Amino acid sequence: MITPNTHYADLKESYLFYNIAQKTKAYLEEHPEKHLYRMGIGDVSLPLCDAVITALHEAVDDQADKERFHGYMPECGDPGLREILAAHYAKRGIHLSPDEVFVSSGASDELGDILDLFDRSSSALVIEPAYPAYVDANVMAGRKIVHLPAGKENGFLPEPDENAKADILYICSPNNPTGAVFNREQLQRWIDFANANGSVILFDAAYEAFIEDETLPHSIFELEGARTCAIEICSLSKTAGFTGTRLGYTVIPSDLVRAGMKFNEMWVRNRTTKTNGVSYILQKGGAAVFTPEGHQQIMENIRFYKENAAILMEALDQLGIWYCGGKNAPYIWMECPDGMGSWELFDYLLKEIQVVGTPGEGFGACGEGYFRFSTFGNREDTIEAARRLKELFVK
Ligand code: PLP
Repeated sequence: MITPNTHYADLKESYLFYNIAQKTKAYLEEHPEKHLYRMGIGDVSLPLCDAVITALHEAVDDQADKERFHGYMPECGDPGLREILAAHYAKRGIHLSPDEVFVSSGASDELGDILDLFDRSSSALVIEPAYPAYVDANVMAGRKIVHLPAGKENGFLPEPDENAKADILYICSPNNPTGAVFNREQLQRWIDFANANGSVILFDAAYEAFIEDETLPHSIFELEGARTCAIEICSLSKTAGFTGTRLGYTVIPSDLVRAGMKFNEMWVRNRTTKTNGVSYILQKGGAAVFTPEGHQQIMENIRFYKENAAILMEALDQLGIWYCGGKNAPYIWMECPDGMGSWELFDYLLKEIQVVGTPGEGFGACGEGYFRFSTFGNREDTIEAARRLKELFVK
């Protein structure tokens, strides 16, 4: 009889968003007249910008024209888009060959698929609280997972140490859920640690476009030594509203070599075997993000989310509640007031002021006692949620 991948039985029930949905549904059934202020979702609320929409329409028309029609696209990405992406990095002083940038269907797909490059006996370090897919993708592969808890004492930005030794090191900066961002010195220490131990960093830069403090690194390749130890995974989901459209890119430098094997070449082999490339239409839409017009328009959308963040941060500042994130990230990670547990605060906010956030415990045990607000919601709800929070917690 066939043996399934029994590691799936080791996955913990993913109850976080299910529980939130159940609790809010039950509340609305009991109080149908109430409006919920949803500050929990990690999905964008603004539509794609005009430059992208125009490019998508043009690409659809191309597909209707015999001369301009595109069939299969190159598996690693359209060469023109790979050049555009390399030029985007060059603006930050990072010199990449277009062959080092791969077009993807988004960061989630890539974070899962990239694990094909590592032996199943390799171990993975996850800094917690963390985006849940890091742990689950490695549990499915039966890998040993090393959990490194972060906390308020280190601003949710832990340093590498003996307890952090693993083959694959996940670093997410700006972080989901904490919104914390590693500065150059802190990130350099992780790079040096990875190079010293022969580890590979999977650097998740899904939120880099939200960094406004220009001393903070947007890319791990801004730092010395990253080319020999890091893979960077990026996404247009939050940068440009592509959550439902799907497009991302991944950088694998040609200098990343372990046991004589080049990860860049392995990934080319992987992609050419396991994909037939990303849709022509989407790649054309994605290219428009990097035009001057597209860039200006996506930055306007990001500014809108940042104004939401400022509204929520102002409320927390006024209440004297500790938080991190918000400034260089679309998430605000706050300490639960009055020593409440994170689900306790969830229930309290739902019942008292109809504000919905995400309990920190859902991102790992050390997230207990914290709560995440997303700033991707609409303006009116954000203003009202902030007002209600102030009224509820004022001493
Ligand atoms: N990485 C992090 C840290 C995320 O928060 C998300 C989405 O919320 C992703 C990756 C996935 O992004 P994508 O939509 O590109 O799959």
